[in-house]
Amino acid sequence: MGNGSKEVSPAEQHVTELNTWLNFKRLIRHAFPYRAASFFAIFCMLGYASIDVYFLSKLPALIDEGLTGKNPEFMKWAPLFVIVCFILRGTFHFLSNYCLAWVGNNVVADLRQKIFKHVMAMPVAFHDSTSTGTLISKLTFDTEQVLQAVSKSLLTLVQQGGFVIGLLFLMFWESWQLSAIFLVITPIIAVIVTIVSKRFRKISKNIQNAMGEVTSAAEQTFNGHKVVITFDGQERENDRFYQINKHNRQQRMKMVTAKSASVPIIQIIASFALAFVLYVATLDGFVDSLTPGVFMGVVTYMTMLLRPLKLLTNVNNEFQRGMAASSSIFELLDKQPEQESGDKVLEQSQGALTVRNVSFAYPNEEKLTLDNISFHANTGDTIALVGRSGSGKSTLTSLLLRFYQAQKGEILIDDTDISTLTIKSLRRQFAYVSQQVVLFNDSLANNIAYAKPEASREEIIAVAKKAHVLEFADKLPQGLDTNIGDNGALLSGGQRQRVAIARALLCDAPFLILDEATSALDTESERHIQDALTELQQQRTSIIIAHRLSTIESATNILVIDQGKVIEQGNHEVLLAKDGAYAQLHKFQFAQ
Ligand code: ADP
Repeated sequence: MGNGSKEVSPAEQHVTELNTWLNFKRLIRHAFPYRAASFFAIFCMLGYASIDVYFLSKLPALIDEGLTGKNPEFMKWAPLFVIVCFILRGTFHFLSNYCLAWVGNNVVADLRQKIFKHVMAMPVAFHDSTSTGTLISKLTFDTEQVLQAVSKSLLTLVQQGGFVIGLLFLMFWESWQLSAIFLVITPIIAVIVTIVSKRFRKISKNIQNAMGEVTSAAEQTFNGHKVVITFDGQERENDRFYQINKHNRQQRMKMVTAKSASVPIIQIIASFALAFVLYVATLDGFVDSLTPGVFMGVVTYMTMLLRPLKLLTNVNNEFQRGMAASSSIFELLDKQPEQESGDKVLEQSQGALTVRNVSFAYPNEEKLTLDNISFHANTGDTIALVGRSGSGKSTLTSLLLRFYQAQKGEILIDDTDISTLTIKSLRRQFAYVSQQVVLFNDSLANNIAYAKPEASREEIIAVAKKAHVLEFADKLPQGLDTNIGDNGALLSGGQRQRVAIARALLCDAPFLILDEATSALDTESERHIQDALTELQQQRTSIIIAHRLSTIESATNILVIDQGKVIEQGNHEVLLAKDGAYAQLHKFQFAQ
């Protein structure tokens, strides 16, 4: 059972309706720039409905005057009348649909752009806790739902609504007695509509969540395909997906049940109205006051009311579906993006870094991931972070880039607290080569130039040479201009890291963070790159996370971190002499 069957209290119901209204107003604001086209679309919809009503209004006259031969003029003009009506109707139909789609697609494109920008501006902590599948589903599925639902309900509401009002007017005009019977049946239909639409609202929200689950579960498994097959997880993944898939199917079936039942029920009730009219018409005296044309007219109008009424009963469901989707979108857009905490702009740092008594715990975690860390680096120094996996090394570099904010202590760049700097000017000071090299579906050259798009071809070639990228680039069909596929699928682990190093070389930042940058390199490539890295480090302050101690023997200061604390610090010789944790580690690696 999903939570769709949970009872909603009147107070909650009120809040939901209020939210729907607020969401709707907000959505309308997005359509405001396209208001002229929107009004024109509405005008054409009303035109379409008016033509239909006008056309039908001629029915009694056709029967009473035309077909009986009383008025020969009528029949003479009838063929032309039909053609003109249908030309106008077709024109209105085309224009209203076209304009509506134009407005809708513009609004959706705007929304997508906004979501895209917003998601990029969200803090790292948000991305830690939100799956990519959910975000993609909001960007594609939810926006599409808003487009479909809102344009469809607007079209039905205006076009069919106008048609119904026109027909009702005609009916009462021709015979108010017959038409009054119709009014008896209306409240009954209204009650059923309310019940069905409430059920819809609940289910459509569940479907959205269920759909997000399907995408994210599939994406996770497909991305981790190799891990799944290595650890024999097919069966488990299959079972997990089966549950999610089943849930999605059940939600959809609930929706179909509500939808399929609502239409026949409403039609059956409406048929009672028709039956009643036929009965009344047979009563003595009543039938004398009607001409055949008027009687046929009113009965036809009533029959013709069924379809638009059915469509109108669906409007609310459709509209609610769109509102559920838009509320999911607005919920995301309302999440606080990454906040600036300072407004100082730092052009180019001198390269001094001080970390003073910094403690940090991840959001919603009680345990400190970093506990009272302090160190200092002057320009050109190399700080090496050593320690077991999970000891907090990457977290420390994340704090430097302000992906997270330390709860205690301060981090200074050239004596300026980084929290007083603008995020942009802070991050500009760092070149970052992480464990997972992220590459874009673009040419090798553009991937290298990602941090400095304005770089000249010569600059790119120079760094590609230094980072030994040219070695393999020359073997590719179009050299540096070869497209490397989705996330650099064409490259090996070592090649990817060489690209990342070239990227860092190109962006001339005063600080360099290398997160196990050379871990995926074979010994041969590593030796090549080590030269380039050494040269790079000389002009910069570097923070290196290294597993292989051989690469950091010349570091100015080595911090040995264990469970978030610095347990030893000093240079290679000092630490070896101390014969503590570092010396242990060194012995161990040397033996290997
Ligand atoms: P290292 O780089 O030394 O391997 P990390 O800095 O990646 O260590 O991780 C330190 C600790 O913080 C680990 O226990 C890890 O599970 C935890 N951790 C890492 N990232 C997050 C996160 N986004 N949210 C919560 N805990 C995290």
